[in-house]
Amino acid sequence: MFNSLSDRLTATFKNLRGKGRLTEADVDATVREIRRALLDADVAVPVVREFTSRVRERALGAEVSAALNPSQQIVKIVNEELKEILGGETRRIRLAKNGPTVIMLAGLQGAGKTTLAGKLSKWLKSQGHSPMLVACDLQRPNAVTQLQVVGQRANVPVFAPHPGATSTELEQPAGDPVAVARAGVEEARQKLHDVVIVDTAGRLGVDADMMEQARQIRRAIVPNEVLFVIDSMIGQDAVNTALAFDEGVNFTGIVLSKLDGDARGGAALSVSSVTGKPVMFASTGEGLDDFELFHPDRMASRILD
Ligand code: GDP
Repeated sequence: MFNSLSDRLTATFKNLRGKGRLTEADVDATVREIRRALLDADVAVPVVREFTSRVRERALGAEVSAALNPSQQIVKIVNEELKEILGGETRRIRLAKNGPTVIMLAGLQGAGKTTLAGKLSKWLKSQGHSPMLVACDLQRPNAVTQLQVVGQRANVPVFAPHPGATSTELEQPAGDPVAVARAGVEEARQKLHDVVIVDTAGRLGVDADMMEQARQIRRAIVPNEVLFVIDSMIGQDAVNTALAFDEGVNFTGIVLSKLDGDARGGAALSVSSVTGKPVMFASTGEGLDDFELFHPDRMASRILD
């Protein structure tokens, strides 16, 4: 995903090799190149502005280490600042002290929520947990069935209003997503599952009804984590979508999905910075194993590799 950004940054640092000392002009020229590379990669303008001003300030500052040459020094600073915009430290799921840990998924339709539900369940199982899925996306005709398929593949139970219900049946009261969410969490508690993942409905764009529904579900189930899933390929819209969801459901963490795509990726780099929420997981393909815990430091190093 970040190949082009990565190449541009590496080329910029190459220009500094062999320099004994960096003048202010060298730093400015380098920062200008970094700014261009970030903007071309679709990183949001305010994020680029803050990023480059911090890199410039630190590069000109007194952080001179005898062990590093000037180009290594700038790479180190950029690496640390990239880690910061990606959320800083690795953030793990906060587990509930009593009863099941409730994880709610939110995001636009097609972002990758349902797929993530399967990936997350499989990963949680490998960590010794006993997850259960709850199908609250009653908007899309096939969403419940899709979650059931994912649940089967991950070998975890799925709580749904009616197994195999059709969209017409779901328009009946049993299709109230808030009631389903509440009942699903209760079922998980009774069946002694220690994690319950609640999949919610998305729309193609940010929509007041969808957001209100997500907000009501959040209020009803009091989740330990609300994960906002974002398609890393959506480009500049990512920032506004993330801000709207943050205002709507006050999410606690971000999942970058479709990081395997060949989009420029900068939008994905911006969402944590603009919302102040950490990226917790990355989704890197359609398979259940294409999933990883997100480590901001490793991602920063990968970009600068
Ligand atoms: P939802 O509407 O948010 O539940 O999104 P889905 O989970 O149904 O995913 C939408 C589409 O994106 C499906 O075709 C998935 O197979 C695909 N998808 C989900 N995650 C990834 C990913 O990390 N990489 C790729 N390439 N495709 C993905």
